[in-house]
Amino acid sequence: LGGAMTAVTLRVGGLAAEWDRTGLIPLDLLRELGAEGRLCAEVPEQYGGWGLSSTHSGAYTAHVGGLCSSLRSVMTSQGMAAWTIRRLGTAEQAAVHLPRLTGGALAAVGFSEPGAGSDLAAMATTVRRDGDEVVVDGHKKWVTAAHYADLLVVVGRHEDGAVAVVVPADAPGVRIERIADPLGCRAAGHADVHLDGVRLPADSVLGGHPLPPALLVTTALAYGRMSVAWGCVGILRACLAAATAHAAGRRQFGKPLAEHQLVAGHLADLYTAEQVASRVCEHASRSWDEGSPDQVVATVLAKHVSATEAARGAATAVQVLASAGSRDGHAVARAYRDAKLMEIIEGSSELCRLMLAQHALSAPG
Ligand code: FAD
Repeated sequence: LGGAMTAVTLRVGGLAAEWDRTGLIPLDLLRELGAEGRLCAEVPEQYGGWGLSSTHSGAYTAHVGGLCSSLRSVMTSQGMAAWTIRRLGTAEQAAVHLPRLTGGALAAVGFSEPGAGSDLAAMATTVRRDGDEVVVDGHKKWVTAAHYADLLVVVGRHEDGAVAVVVPADAPGVRIERIADPLGCRAAGHADVHLDGVRLPADSVLGGHPLPPALLVTTALAYGRMSVAWGCVGILRACLAAATAHAAGRRQFGKPLAEHQLVAGHLADLYTAEQVASRVCEHASRSWDEGSPDQVVATVLAKHVSATEAARGAATAVQVLASAGSRDGHAVARAYRDAKLMEIIEGSSELCRLMLAQHALSAPG
């Protein structure tokens, strides 16, 4: 794993700020990383992946998240697409699609719609059977990595439930409209996806039959939540490193910033945030690796705690660096914008709190 981390560090180098400024990661680099299995590291080796456990994949995701949240977001989408195919697809579908995802093809996952953000039960996209084909109609919003994607995993209504369908991004009727001005993760390739009468072979439907919408969405999102949670740990580690280095080096009022107690308090808060987020993520990943029944709630908890701590921690880091961290190109300024979005995606903080409250109410004792 150490070698993989070093390899990504060398490829990203100091380029994250430039990608953030231009709003693009070079497509060749994404394909290269994809073809080395670096964008969906939990895919089993039989499909060309690395077969990492959630714990090891988490450590790797945190590393990438500390370098560049846009690249980590592309990884989250790729991993979530692969996970959805593994969990919902047949063995034949896995054998067709997963080697593509470890072979350089890029993927994105579309749930959200203009009328269905937090409330995914309000989804209006339809997947209609027509002989040997299905026809997809709908509009997906804010799909991370869709600008780069070769294939889209799209969730829609089908018969009396919901299905996930694999849509080639160049299929007739697909139009991808890039969001050029996101607040953060600016190079993550967010786009709206319009699907107008998109005809696909019926075997594009993962698993072939509908599932209850809530079950399908929860299954697919679980991976995304884990990945975002670990990405937030990376943001916190980068912010802690930047804040401690700055506070140790810069002097005001005749001594290092770190020797002013209020600044030291900020550093303690950041350290605490990084430690707390790391521990909840480690616990959640252990639950995944052990197949524990705690897995679902541990994942929501990890996502909620890590995103909240990252948003607060990044703001603290900007405060410690002050003017030195107040320009777009600086890592803490980028972290500040990127981290805020982590409180919105893969189940907003409010939705996570509702789920945690439900769990608390139903838990024995
Ligand atoms: P709304 O649902 O309109 O919510 C607005 C506010 O009200 C939020 O604070 C929300 O928490 C709160 N709220 C809503 N309902 C309740 C409730 N019942 N109780 C309490 N509070 C509530 N979607 C995809 O499908 N694929 C992607 O890859 C993807 N990537 C994204 C990346 C970014 C950077 C962003 C910003 C969004 C992305 N999305 C993606 C969309 C994302 O999933 C939605 O933005 C998110 O689900 C929230 O929906 P909304 O923006 O419509 O907000």
